[in-house]
Amino acid sequence: MLILFDLDDTLIETSKCLTPLYLKLAFDSMSQVGLDSSEESFTQLLALNKKAISSRFAIEQFLGTHSNKEEILAAGLEALKTPLPKNAVIELVPGALEVLDALKKQHDLALVTKGDSLLQLQKMEKAGIQPGQFSKLIVGSAPSKKFDYQRVLEELDVAPSEAIVCGDRVSVDLTPAKELGVYTVHFRNGRGLVHCEPKESVDLTIETLKELQEVFLET
Ligand SMILES: [Mg+2]
Repeated sequence: MLILFDLDDTLIETSKCLTPLYLKLAFDSMSQVGLDSSEESFTQLLALNKKAISSRFAIEQFLGTHSNKEEILAAGLEALKTPLPKNAVIELVPGALEVLDALKKQHDLALVTKGDSLLQLQKMEKAGIQPGQFSKLIVGSAPSKKFDYQRVLEELDVAPSEAIVCGDRVSVDLTPAKELGVYTVHFRNGRGLVHCEPKESVDLTIETLKELQEVFLET
């Protein structure tokens, strides 16, 4: 089988370690172009983020109908692409490296993530995830992961029925995979604790990454 992983909140604890830091960078950049920069205001952004599907969405919601929304939003979104600060600490999801190691003995692995290419690669490097263990690694910029999944399947010549996608956000990671006929695993972690819909896109739900080993490794 080919197992396609998501990166943020699936292999690394992005919501826990990095999102607050990047929201602060965005908040500071937005303050420089006219956003009210009070302490409560940042707390409000963090609160909105808890339920948001992405940092981008949280910032958009936070700005609401601000009179200068476009300019402020642009500054905030640009800040989300800031190269990884040297002092940033990235935690791996418990067992991530061991699970990848074990699975790659019996399966091909791929990684399909979204965001800024440089930043995504920096995160992997800092977390100690070797890019070389993936037969394909895509940092997509399209709104849907569908085309990225399709590309991986085509380039590796794998039928959808021979592939598995594992990710935390159902609508982002799993719905496009399900539409292609790929088996989907919802990892309830990070943003995926809140974004569990639509249920029909999910074939299997796991609470820990290690469960993948139990399900997909033949002993
Ligand atoms: Mg994710």
